Amino acid sequence: MPGHRGAGGGTPAGVTAARAPIDKGARVDVVVPGARLVILGKQGAGKGTQCVRLARHYVVPHISTGDMFRAAVKMVTEFGRRAEEYMNAGELIPDEVVIGVVRERLEQDDTVRRGFILDGFPRTVHQAVTLTAFLAPRGVDLAIDLEVGTEMVLRRLAGRRVCQTCGTNYSVAAKPKHGWTCDYCGGDVVQRDDDTEAAILRRLKLYEEQTAPLITWYLEQDRLVAVDGMGSPDEVTSRLTRAIDRRRHERGLHG
Ligand SMILES: [Zn+2]
Repeated sequence: MPGHRGAGGGTPAGVTAARAPIDKGARVDVVVPGARLVILGKQGAGKGTQCVRLARHYVVPHISTGDMFRAAVKMVTEFGRRAEEYMNAGELIPDEVVIGVVRERLEQDDTVRRGFILDGFPRTVHQAVTLTAFLAPRGVDLAIDLEVGTEMVLRRLAGRRVCQTCGTNYSVAAKPKHGWTCDYCGGDVVQRDDDTEAAILRRLKLYEEQTAPLITWYLEQDRLVAVDGMGSPDEVTSRLTRAIDRRRHERGLHG
């Protein structure tokens, strides 16, 4: 990774930009010199929303492996075809394939220069070790564990409804205007088969099993920061940026 070598030393790149004002009249914000973040959290914890906000705050791309897979399948790329085969067979996409795709993305200019927020990767300790080796010597700055109670996640996911025709999302709290008919296309708005309480609990249990070793690993590397994901999106965002900046400052990354 040219340009990042020695970034962990005494003079972090980008510090000189710290006093540049953003626009006239606005609060003079500090220009944040990039970040390398991994986000972990249950489905329904609000990761998607927070990733978009963190990406904007730190001016880094939000790299979601889920989005990348879906896009690859849609565009029928070589990888997309392979990924689709595994997904159709109900199998997990093998580590080597996932790692290859993420690695390709991390080699692009924007990521090399500014960093990234990784969402959906790593999923296993093996993937985390590979990622750290690839990003050596700096590795990732932090792995964030966005914590939301199971009850809350259950309530959110169980209330979720989707249009069968166009895929627009609704919820019990934000219904379509007329019955369960889609506002946009007139399609039927239903609960997804895999959004029953039993299925959600099964997925949550799987997540816990899969992620627990990963959380332990990042903890051992002194890279883990746990953040409470309850509350309004704004509250959670400011909690996240405060926690991230504090930890990065302690480690001399001057976030
Ligand atoms: Zn629709």
